[in-house]
Amino acid sequence: MKRPAAWSRRELLAFGWLPFFRPKHIAVAGARFRILRNGRSTRHYLHIHGNEDTAREVLERHMETHEGIAFLVENQTRNLMVEGLQLDPNRMFSRVGTEISLKGLNPDSTPEQREAAQRTLDRGREHLLSAFLPPPMRGVLIAVHNNSEQYSVMDETPISDAASLREAGNPHAFFLCTDPMDFAVLSQSPYNAVLQQKKPEEDDGSLSRLAARRSIRYVNLEVRLGNKDRQTEMLRWLDWNLP
Ligand SMILES: [Zn+2]
Repeated sequence: MKRPAAWSRRELLAFGWLPFFRPKHIAVAGARFRILRNGRSTRHYLHIHGNEDTAREVLERHMETHEGIAFLVENQTRNLMVEGLQLDPNRMFSRVGTEISLKGLNPDSTPEQREAAQRTLDRGREHLLSAFLPPPMRGVLIAVHNNSEQYSVMDETPISDAASLREAGNPHAFFLCTDPMDFAVLSQSPYNAVLQQKKPEEDDGSLSRLAARRSIRYVNLEVRLGNKDRQTEMLRWLDWNLP
């Protein structure tokens, strides 16, 4: 019996470069991401929190004039639904982190419900990561986020390996990176930057911790929600100056 059209890895590798065969979406357990491509570049971009509208807008615009692949969450809210439970999508990249997020956001959930959500994510986690993660060596993953009053570079400085606070009066705008060479560049910028390179003891399931564990170049760009001009400026600076 012929199986329904499911592309094998070999077929994807053979035809993936043809525009016709390139998927426009990638989805895992209620998390659906739009894929925007521009030219050929080892830069990968990610917008993962659906309520961070400024970051989405800035990244969409950026992709019109800069090369790379961008993944943009289609959800409009911060959290996603997985098997009926709320989950912070930036906590789904490890089982440990997922469990903490599921428990925190669904205090009345049972262990069985959480296990069902975990199993659904187990089936898709690596699939999603294989798309998000940049090619080894020169590739870099750049994630764009927005924050509010509750979160700033001051929360990250104590748990970072190094910090360069060139703009201490504007703590909501900062870079967080996992590669010391990138930090060397970012610390020369007029902006705030922190380095989190060490393999973290506490795994919160976020992409930055996963990147540190797997020695992947990752840069997080945080800017206060609504501050579109500033986020555009910092994203351009990053793209222009990073190797
Ligand atoms: Zn975010």
